[in-house]
Amino acid sequence: MAEGEFEFIARRLRPLAAGTPGALRLLDDAALLDPPEGAQLVLTKDAMVAGVHFLADDPAAQIGQKLLRVNLSDLAAMGAEPIGYLLSIARQRETSEAWLESFCRGLAEDQAEFGIGLLGGDTVSTPGPVTLSLTAIGQVPRGQALLRSTAEEGDDLYVSGTLGDGALGLKVLLGELSLNAAATVFLADRYRRPQPRLALGRALRGLAHAAIDISDGLLADLGHVLEASDLGAEVWADRLPLSLAAREAADAALEAALAGGDDYELLFTVPADRRAKVVRLASELELPLTRIGRLDVMPGLRVLDADGQPIHLDRTGWTHF
Ligand SMILES: [Mg+2]
Repeated sequence: MAEGEFEFIARRLRPLAAGTPGALRLLDDAALLDPPEGAQLVLTKDAMVAGVHFLADDPAAQIGQKLLRVNLSDLAAMGAEPIGYLLSIARQRETSEAWLESFCRGLAEDQAEFGIGLLGGDTVSTPGPVTLSLTAIGQVPRGQALLRSTAEEGDDLYVSGTLGDGALGLKVLLGELSLNAAATVFLADRYRRPQPRLALGRALRGLAHAAIDISDGLLADLGHVLEASDLGAEVWADRLPLSLAAREAADAALEAALAGGDDYELLFTVPADRRAKVVRLASELELPLTRIGRLDVMPGLRVLDADGQPIHLDRTGWTHF
């Protein structure tokens, strides 16, 4: 017999709220937040459905961590620092105590890692698939949030980390791609536990013109920046940063880097006269920041190979025109 809602909140959620005074130990109807002096609140929400956004047999602890991390990635993209989060769990009658315990343990570990706590939570029962929803709350100094709409002509285009790992990790987990053991472990972890680039997001305030996190794939998310900023761009396919594990996937790596989702790296634009600052930042953060293209006023998005020739995606993958 599954524990009831009140028991669940008391046993599982209240410990997650212990470090956040505004949560009022989850004993009140709502949480209280003091708006930070001189700061703006940054709010974002992402939901995940079993069988759609995670695999039903993924470890529960990592599902909780992914749910939190994808939201923190949105805060990072805005240059924000996380304050806390609200959680909603729609569980099935057959969802086990062990699954819920593991889910909450994953959250507890990540709370410690990212220095945040639960502000409020709710649980309901559903006849459908397990559905999880999380609202992350962050803060940014007034007027300093990173936006998609403020890129400028001539900006350099950068990405953090490596691209394509998340999409390749999903393929490996689904059995659609077979790689050596080390690559399999690395890519599966990149899919299940993305790394929100919070320190990078903070450091990009006042340095980058625009930023977004890569959740739907490089080209799709770059498209959002171009649309919001009313610009075009060229992307240099041979400069895309690939992990050693992704390189094992050969041709599939380029497609995953361009069009795969779930990387949660930051894509950002910086005026060309600040290149040295980006190089310094990469070494300070010990995080690769790779220049992969340039913004211009010619509408659209052009992917170029090492010879400057355009390549495009068709049903069989990336090919030359
Ligand atoms: Mg996003």
